[in-house]
Amino acid sequence: MPIRTGAQYIENLKQSMPETWIGNERVQDVTTHPALAPAVRAVARLYDLQHDPQLQEFMTYRSPSTGDLVGTSFLIPKSRDDLVKRRLMHKTWADETFGIMGRTTDFISAMLTAWAIRADFFGEYADNVRRYYEFVREHDLFLTHVLINPQVDRSKSPAEQPDPFTYVGVVRETDKGLIVRGAKMLATAGPYADEMLVWPFGRHTPKDARYAIAFAVPMSAPGVRLICREPYTKQSVYDHPLASQFDEMDAIVVFDDVLVPWERVFINQDPERVNNIWQVNSNAFTGHQTSIRLLSKLQFMLGLTLLCADAIQISQFPNVQDMIGEITTYIELVRAGIIASEATAEVLPDGTYVPNVTPLLAIRNSGNRWYPRVREIMQLLLAGGLMYQPASVTVFDSPIADDVRKYYRGASISAEEKIKLFKAAADLAVSDFGGRHELYERFYAGDPFYLRIITQYRLYDKTEALNLAKKLLESYDVADTLDALKRAEEELVKEQPAGR
Ligand SMILES: Cc1cc2nc3c(=O)[nH]c(=O)nc-3n(C[C@H](O)[C@H](O)[C@H](O)COP(=O)(O)OP(=O)(O)OC[C@H]3O[C@@H](n4cnc5c(N)ncnc54)[C@H](O)[C@@H]3O)c2cc1C
Repeated sequence: MPIRTGAQYIENLKQSMPETWIGNERVQDVTTHPALAPAVRAVARLYDLQHDPQLQEFMTYRSPSTGDLVGTSFLIPKSRDDLVKRRLMHKTWADETFGIMGRTTDFISAMLTAWAIRADFFGEYADNVRRYYEFVREHDLFLTHVLINPQVDRSKSPAEQPDPFTYVGVVRETDKGLIVRGAKMLATAGPYADEMLVWPFGRHTPKDARYAIAFAVPMSAPGVRLICREPYTKQSVYDHPLASQFDEMDAIVVFDDVLVPWERVFINQDPERVNNIWQVNSNAFTGHQTSIRLLSKLQFMLGLTLLCADAIQISQFPNVQDMIGEITTYIELVRAGIIASEATAEVLPDGTYVPNVTPLLAIRNSGNRWYPRVREIMQLLLAGGLMYQPASVTVFDSPIADDVRKYYRGASISAEEKIKLFKAAADLAVSDFGGRHELYERFYAGDPFYLRIITQYRLYDKTEALNLAKKLLESYDVADTLDALKRAEEELVKEQPAGR
């Protein structure tokens, strides 16, 4: 099957609806439910972009198995140009949602592509990985993933949790596959994804073996249940232009004795392999996508901030320019890291190009701190303006409309334009939706502290830095220095005029 359209994606969802709960309501149709439908429509638009003749050259490529057009997020790069092609695809999709939707379909496709490239890592299950990658590519499926174990007792290992199946573990093996039970957090986009990839994060000891599993199942698999957080979706586009269109839902996934068919098992009760899954280097591909998406989001925030600053004529103040300059610095560092990852890509023996993960990890370990800072800059610069808005667009259809037109105008724009602009900024800077985004950027890739310690300290190649420091230190020692001091003293004595 070639690339899908948005309509085909929605039709498929209707055929295989996941069991989704919002409070006490079981969602009957995720494609029409007011809390979920806007995100479904946004994802559908992304699928449609693959069919745009202007974009198709970089959004798609020919399937090596069928010759049909398939999505570039599955492309196994064989040149730097292929990496650039992947970048253009990621950027096009990211720009479509202004960088707001983090878990668009290209995120997990990038991860699965990395898995397929290093499928050998999965040992006896390597062919399962290869076939699954091909299946997802050929059906143009939208995947979510859940890695994190439920936040119940972080002081204890998986096996020591209050209930042995708090974390997802194997209940038993059958001739059809594994029966798994437990829960995972947080399946962003879970209610409207087609399938999910599951594996655990963190170290596993031999006694945690039953939890050391990696697999994929359809979201509609019997026994899979999604429990959504409170929706932030709002109705009015004018009042909440982002929350009304791009609230990608986060959900806890419960696995109630779910059958994972053998062909969907990628790691089976193997702590060693789970502990070493970083060797697959999926961060090289997901980091490429997440950095490009962050670039879009920061550019979008900069654009909003510039327009707001002009609207109230604060752009000429040096302190304002300094803070805006701070945002552009982050943007350029992110852009540079993306290009560096392509320019210094690792070339595998089979000719596959893997983006250099080092600059991408640096972006990830900075982006989770830069994003909250950029949001803070929006608050510092737009200040009370983020609250200086009528509750709703309906005010323009009320007896006080003239008050609003007079007092809510900007320096040279109308009240309608200024409120529209500041409401867009407020949607990220101060709303509940915006708060979720700050949390997302801080944590989507894992605990920021742990992440930086592991990737920027423990795994970081320190050779170049150490060599440089050692070069200086090895250029002198105590004996040399004493000799030099002695010689300098003797020279001084020789130079002293006699008799004085
Ligand atoms: C909006 C959002 C969307 C997300 N989407 C997804 C998704 O799609 N898929 C997915 O798999 N995950 C997703 N996540 C989960 C995300 O990966 C986790 O939030 C992240 O890994 C941190 O784990 P945690 O939330 O369980 O925090 P915890 O691990 O419980 O940490 C809480 C605090 O305790 C500290 N702490 C915990 N354990 C230790 C320890 N052993 N030693 C020292 N300090 C410790 C941490 O540093 C942190 O400050 C999402 C998260 C958010 C916020």
